[in-house]
Amino acid sequence: MPVSPHILPTYARVDLAFERGEGAWLYTAAGERYLDFTSGVAVNALGHAHPALVKALDEQAAKLWHVSNLYRIPGAEKLADRLCAASFADVVFFCNSGTEALEGAIKMARKYHAVAGKPERFRIITFEGAFHGRTLAALSATGNKKYLDGFGPPVEGFDQVAYGEIEAVKKAVTPETAAILIEPVMGEGGVRVVPHAFLRALRQLCDDRGMLLIFDEVQSGIGRTGALFAYEHSGVTPDIMALAKALGGGFPVGAFLATAEAGKGMTAGTHGSTFGGNPLAMAVANAIMDVVNTREFLAQVKQTALRFKQRLAELKDRHSSVIAEVRGEGLLMGLRMVPPAAAMVDELRAEKMLTPSAGDNVVRLLPPLIIGEEEMAFAIDAIDRACTRLAQLHAKKGAA
Ligand SMILES: *Cc1c(COP(=O)(O)O)cnc(C)c1O
Repeated sequence: MPVSPHILPTYARVDLAFERGEGAWLYTAAGERYLDFTSGVAVNALGHAHPALVKALDEQAAKLWHVSNLYRIPGAEKLADRLCAASFADVVFFCNSGTEALEGAIKMARKYHAVAGKPERFRIITFEGAFHGRTLAALSATGNKKYLDGFGPPVEGFDQVAYGEIEAVKKAVTPETAAILIEPVMGEGGVRVVPHAFLRALRQLCDDRGMLLIFDEVQSGIGRTGALFAYEHSGVTPDIMALAKALGGGFPVGAFLATAEAGKGMTAGTHGSTFGGNPLAMAVANAIMDVVNTREFLAQVKQTALRFKQRLAELKDRHSSVIAEVRGEGLLMGLRMVPPAAAMVDELRAEKMLTPSAGDNVVRLLPPLIIGEEEMAFAIDAIDRACTRLAQLHAKKGAA
């Protein structure tokens, strides 16, 4: 059956629908089983139908769904306290998606300078290959011409520079620069782990020039890299950070976090969200934190990632005509491909394994953080067979 013509066709969808999920596995109505290494694009950190999340949602659903931010929301206060205790941050604003978290982070950076008497400092430096979302300001920060085309003038105030070149960043700083925005691990841009020295240099530059450092951890946050936040690996802390994706494990929720200093302009009335931080979302996000934010769980993610990466490295050695590079941090992994990444995604799907592609000809491997030996072995076998077929195709083409 074709996709309903009443769905706005902005996605080129794969002709697959799932009826239920359990752990890292998805099942079609016909009972076909797929290994889910897409995880809703790094959202389902605890896989599907995790008992603790189901329980949290069920219990909250029977009590109270939504009240608005005109009243106190105990679940939101609890989650904010926990996020701040576990990070650099002092304050949190809850919203519903990644792009909204970015919008909030951008507004906060601008307001910070405005209340300091420098409203002309509103520009933000961003990086080539970044992805920050699809609303107009976040999209302008993303700076991808393909996504901006036809949507009128981009939001003013974003200066994009080449990734990884500190001299280019220094040159781009003007008296109007408010902040620098970067993903510590660039997800959509091809799972590029930003060198820690570069992050340190950005921190230094921000300190020297009175700018704020904003980390977009929408994809890398909440345990994905084996630390609660990816910035922990570098030792560099931001002033503002955006979260979403895994924060709700599949329930839509986003947040931006900040130091008290960075957040000082955001007083009553300066920002809002009807749904942001509602009791349902907060119940689920608190349940996620119960599981993910423990030493044991994060150590387990690191261990799993290490073993998986070793086996991927072996596959790369055996299939060097197909896999150019294994990269990533924790379970935010990518295979940079020799043949088109899209061909690998198709071959893996034929092996009943789901993966998303990314920029830079990369196939992303984003398993739920709870995978064990069975899932890893299935994935390695699937990748092995897919590589063998692609190598044969490649060889045939070369011969023809
Ligand atoms: C997915 C993503 C976003 C956008 O999140 P949405 O929830 O789709 O709006 C922003 N930044 C990064 C790094 C992302 O991976």
